Amino acid sequence: MGKQTPVNKHIEIIIVGAGPSGLLLGILLAKQGVKVQILEAAGELDKNPRAAHYAPSAVYELNRAGVLEDVKAQGIHPDAVCWRHPDGTFIAGIRSRFDIDFPMVCLPLDQLDIILLQHFLAQPGTEVLWNHKVVSIDQDENEARVHVETAEGNKTFGADYIVGCDGANSQIRRSLFGDLNYPGETLQKQIIATNVYYDFHKFGYWDSNFIIDENDWYMAARITQDGLWRVTYGDVWGLSNEEYLARQPERYEKILPGNPKPGDYKLVSASPYKLHQRCADSFRVGRFLLVADAAHLCNPFGGLGLTGGIADVGTLFDAFMALKEGKADDSILDKYSEVRRKKWAEIIDPMSRANFRRVCLDEAESERKEFWDLCKKVEEDEELARQMAQGTNVLREDFREYLTAGAA
Ligand SMILES: Cc1cc2nc3c(=O)[nH]c(=O)nc-3n(C[C@H](O)[C@H](O)[C@H](O)COP(=O)(O)OP(=O)(O)OC[C@H]3O[C@@H](n4cnc5c(N)ncnc54)[C@H](O)[C@@H]3O)c2cc1C
Repeated sequence: MGKQTPVNKHIEIIIVGAGPSGLLLGILLAKQGVKVQILEAAGELDKNPRAAHYAPSAVYELNRAGVLEDVKAQGIHPDAVCWRHPDGTFIAGIRSRFDIDFPMVCLPLDQLDIILLQHFLAQPGTEVLWNHKVVSIDQDENEARVHVETAEGNKTFGADYIVGCDGANSQIRRSLFGDLNYPGETLQKQIIATNVYYDFHKFGYWDSNFIIDENDWYMAARITQDGLWRVTYGDVWGLSNEEYLARQPERYEKILPGNPKPGDYKLVSASPYKLHQRCADSFRVGRFLLVADAAHLCNPFGGLGLTGGIADVGTLFDAFMALKEGKADDSILDKYSEVRRKKWAEIIDPMSRANFRRVCLDEAESERKEFWDLCKKVEEDEELARQMAQGTNVLREDFREYLTAGAA
């Protein structure tokens, strides 16, 4: 393509996937008068225990979309994060900073999605078409199209641009690059993410805790106002999902403080996950764009998955706005792809790998010691602490330099 589109005031966009990235992009665009429609394969929002922590760069975009006050009202600001030995002994920690513009916020993804859906549907002319599963795609120089299975039969939808926000198994990405073409690797470690009512504070735990060990590593983090905790722990490689879920009581009893038996806690949900570090070859092919999990994946230690995805949303929104307002031609969408892939390769992938290696002791002791020393420095140096707290802002991109001369 690369076709010049000087002013495109009436661009129409289809978003595939009513997950957090699709809904957030939908809100931002609809608020600027872009006609946007979301197609969703499922009949309702996803309820699995996944993201909960959103770093300052993501909070910035939640604020831009006008949803932050609702997220803050329902969520929490975790007080601190720390690392411990399996017996609970404290190693190092970092207190949260609340004297920065957009402190980290925590809210389970299913609750965030409800807020995002309400805000999206509150914009005039928006709609989510549920039970609309995209099965194939095509495009020409005028339009992108998706072919969709619905209860009423197969349908085709077309728009100026179609954005794949359809998650890790993205049909848009598969159609563009092939079913098995998602470059990267699957880490040979198994996690089970659980949501549970169990009072870790009573054992002296902080709001977020990483327990480091070769085998019995886990994360325990308070994620709601009413005391729900996310416990994500590791297990042996190679079992079926049923086997992992059956082993949950014995794993909890072995690794959690107080060695609790099933009657001692209230388990709300549990899901085994594989860990992937992957990035698509391009986030743009003609009139199709990829965003968030459809475009890149990382392990969840350090909460960079959706935080990275939300940074994509912010950048793509800026690119679409520049296009709509005649401040850029559609090569700005190539820039979107270039910038976001670079952020993944240079920041998200290495940082998330380092976070995970620290937890499961898959790194040199010197590397670990360097990090504990850094935590100590942060404790004593206010300015460094503020900088650390805002570290993920490097994921954002200022698009002004790419706009047409004069238009910026
Ligand atoms: C255990 C765990 C903990 C995590 N914790 C964090 C965290 O604390 N912070 C963080 O930033 N990230 C975290 N993540 C990552 C985060 O959950 C994901 O990055 C995020 O959910 C991805 O959002 P998405 O909108 O890209 O995709 P999804 O949430 O997967 O949504 C995709 C949507 O597309 C729909 N869809 C799929 N295929 C089709 C199709 N063919 N047609 C139409 N619709 C389709 C799906 O039904 C779904 O609704 C965590 C992940 C896990 C597994």
